Amino acid sequence: MTESITIALSKGRILDETLPLLKEAGIELVDDVNKSRKLVFPTTDPNVRVLILRATDVPTYVQYGGADLGVTGKDVLMEHGGEGLYEPLDLNISRCRLMTAGKKDTKSPEGRLRVATKFVNLARQYYAAQGRQADIIKLYGAMELAPILGLADEIVDIVDTGNTLKANGLEARELIEYISSRLVVNRASMKMKHAGINPIIEMMSAAVEKRRTLE
Ligand code: AMP
Repeated sequence: MTESITIALSKGRILDETLPLLKEAGIELVDDVNKSRKLVFPTTDPNVRVLILRATDVPTYVQYGGADLGVTGKDVLMEHGGEGLYEPLDLNISRCRLMTAGKKDTKSPEGRLRVATKFVNLARQYYAAQGRQADIIKLYGAMELAPILGLADEIVDIVDTGNTLKANGLEARELIEYISSRLVVNRASMKMKHAGINPIIEMMSAAVEKRRTLE
């Protein structure tokens, strides 16, 4: 019997860049994701279905076996902690940097500092590793406002071109990590469904490699 496989994808930018890679692995969505309100999509492979989730929920679905495979950013995986997951493949898409940032032309204050971010675990670990005392303030969006309004000394956020920081009077300070999207696999599924999962990993890996050589 062929095993059925569920793949959890992250909405937005990551989704747009993942679909062509999946296509090269022989998996295409039957519906147009942008025109549908569905959350579960059948694919051209009758044994494979795709879930479209918020990026932050992807590791949770894969960890608990709600999905066998998932695609999400390294930032989200680091914040989640990665329990119950294998991370066999860097898809080399949606690349950006996780950075600290603060008001332009100011320095990070000496001593205890306040940091606003949606990556609270990551930020806590980062400042602890630097030997710096930091009070972490959880925000869900518009982190760039926090230093301007005096809510925090610094933010920890994703930076691509740096235009968002610049437009809000901020500048990047320290690089925490280079980020890209990763393929993750539920640990139990990797063992139990390897016959279905391995070819998907191999084909996606070949598609990533092919692009790398064209870069
Ligand atoms: P930028 O103005 O180009 O530096 O883009 C910064 C904003 O875009 C950040 O606030 C992020 O939320 C978002 N962003 C940029 N790159 C990514 C990515 N690869 N994944 C998720 N969000 C991103």
